[in-house]
Amino acid sequence: MSAPRNVVVVGGSIAAVTAVDTLRAEGFQGRVTVLSEEGDPPYTRVPLSKGVLAGRQPPGDTDLGGLPSGVELRLGVRATGLDAGARVVRTTEGDVPFDGLVIASGARARRLGVPGHPRARELVLRSRADGLALSDRLAHASSVLVVGGGFLGMEIASTCCALGKQVTVVDIAPPLDALVGPYMGAVVRELAEQAGVVLAVADKVTLLAGSDTDPYPCAVSTGDGRRFEADVVVTAAGDVPNIEWLAGSGLRVDRGVHVDERCRAAPGIVAAGDVAVLDPPGSDSAWRRIPTWTNAVEQARVAALALLHGDDAPVHRPSRYGWTEQFGWDLKMVGAAAPTGEPAVLDGDLTAGQAVLAWPDADVRHTVMAVNHPTPPARLKRLLRGAV
Ligand SMILES: Cc1cc2nc3c(=O)[nH]c(=O)nc-3n(C[C@H](O)[C@H](O)[C@H](O)COP(=O)(O)OP(=O)(O)OC[C@H]3O[C@@H](n4cnc5c(N)ncnc54)[C@H](O)[C@@H]3O)c2cc1C
Repeated sequence: MSAPRNVVVVGGSIAAVTAVDTLRAEGFQGRVTVLSEEGDPPYTRVPLSKGVLAGRQPPGDTDLGGLPSGVELRLGVRATGLDAGARVVRTTEGDVPFDGLVIASGARARRLGVPGHPRARELVLRSRADGLALSDRLAHASSVLVVGGGFLGMEIASTCCALGKQVTVVDIAPPLDALVGPYMGAVVRELAEQAGVVLAVADKVTLLAGSDTDPYPCAVSTGDGRRFEADVVVTAAGDVPNIEWLAGSGLRVDRGVHVDERCRAAPGIVAAGDVAVLDPPGSDSAWRRIPTWTNAVEQARVAALALLHGDDAPVHRPSRYGWTEQFGWDLKMVGAAAPTGEPAVLDGDLTAGQAVLAWPDADVRHTVMAVNHPTPPARLKRLLRGAV
C-alpha cells in the first residue's frame, strides 16, 4: 500500500497528538485533519484526579500544546461512522475523506447507572468538564463516597482526603490488588486508612437514586445489605472504549479496535491508545487493551510509522509502564500487573518509605516497582530485563 497523502485522526487526546507529531517528525507533508468531539483543545487527563482536583493546578495547565503547523484541528466534531471501502469518516459535520486513518477515540468512564432511573445523573472523572462538575460538588460537601478502588478511584479518594473530606471507598475487591498486587495493595490501603479513609469490600455495589431536589445519587447499597451515604458519590469503575462509531465498518471491534503489532486494523487504518486492542500474532486469547498514558504514546508512534512505512515500521512492544500518586506516595511500575507474593528489595527500604522492589524475586523479574524512589522509568525497564 502506498504512503497516504490525506490523513484523518479521530480523537483529541494524547494518542491523537502523538500520532500527528510523529507523522510530521517523519517528514510527512500531506494533509492532516484531527476530529475531536471535545470542545477543548487536546489536554492530558492525568492531573485531573491529582493536582487539578486538589486545586493546586489550573485546568488550563493540562493543555498538550499546539499541533504542528498545517494540521487542521476540528473541535466539537464527532465521528459517527466509518465507510472503510469508500475511505470516508462520517461525522456530525458531514463526510471527511481520507487515505490514511488513525483511530484514537480512546475510552469513556464506565457508568454503573441507577437501576430503575435511566436518566439519573452520575459523577465520574474522565474529562475536564467532569473535573469541574466534581469540584463544584465537592465545594459544598463534607463527605465523599468513591465507588471503585483502582488507581483512579484511590487517587480521587486521596485528593478528597487531602481536601479535608470524610472519604469512603467501596469496591467489589480489595482496592488496588488487581493493579499493584496484594502485597503493595495492603501497604497503600494501610496508608489510606491511616489518612482516615474507610475502605469497604462488598460483593455487589448499587447506586441509589438521589432525592427529588438532587438528581445525583448520595448513597449506595451492597449485596450484603449494607448502605453507605455521602454528600457526593463518584463512580470510578473502569472505562469503556469508544467504538460505537465503528459499528458496521468491517473492522474487528470487540471490546476495542483489534490491531496487529504495528497497530494496523486494516490497510491504511491504524488504531492507538485506550481504544486499541493488541492481537498478538498466532493467539486468540491473549488480546488486551492497555489503557495507560505511556501505552497510548507508544502505540500512537508505532501507528503513525506503520501508516507511512508499512512492514518497515517497528513493532509495538508494550513497556507496560504505569504510575500512580496517592496518599503522599508515588508508585511507578513496569511489567506484569498484580504481582503476587513478597517482593525482593533491589534498593532502599520499604519500611523507611523508599524502595525499588522486584517480583517474584531478585533474579527473576516479572514486575519492578519504584516506591517514592527517583529511579527513572528507563532504569526500571532495564531492571525488569535484569540489566542493572
Ligand atoms: C483522571 C485520570 C487520571 C489518569 N491518570 C493516569 C496516570 O496517572 N497514569 C497513566 O498511565 N494513565 C492515567 N490515566 C489514563 C490516561 O489518561 C489514558 O490512558 C489516556 O488518556 C489515553 O489516551 P487516548 O488518546 O488513547 O484516549 P482518550 O484520552 O480517551 O482520548 C480520546 C479522545 O477521542 C475523542 N473521541 C472519542 N470518540 C470520538 C468520536 N466518535 N469522534 C471524535 N472524537 C472522539 C474524545 O473526546 C477524546 O478527546 C488517567 C485517566 C484519567 C481519566
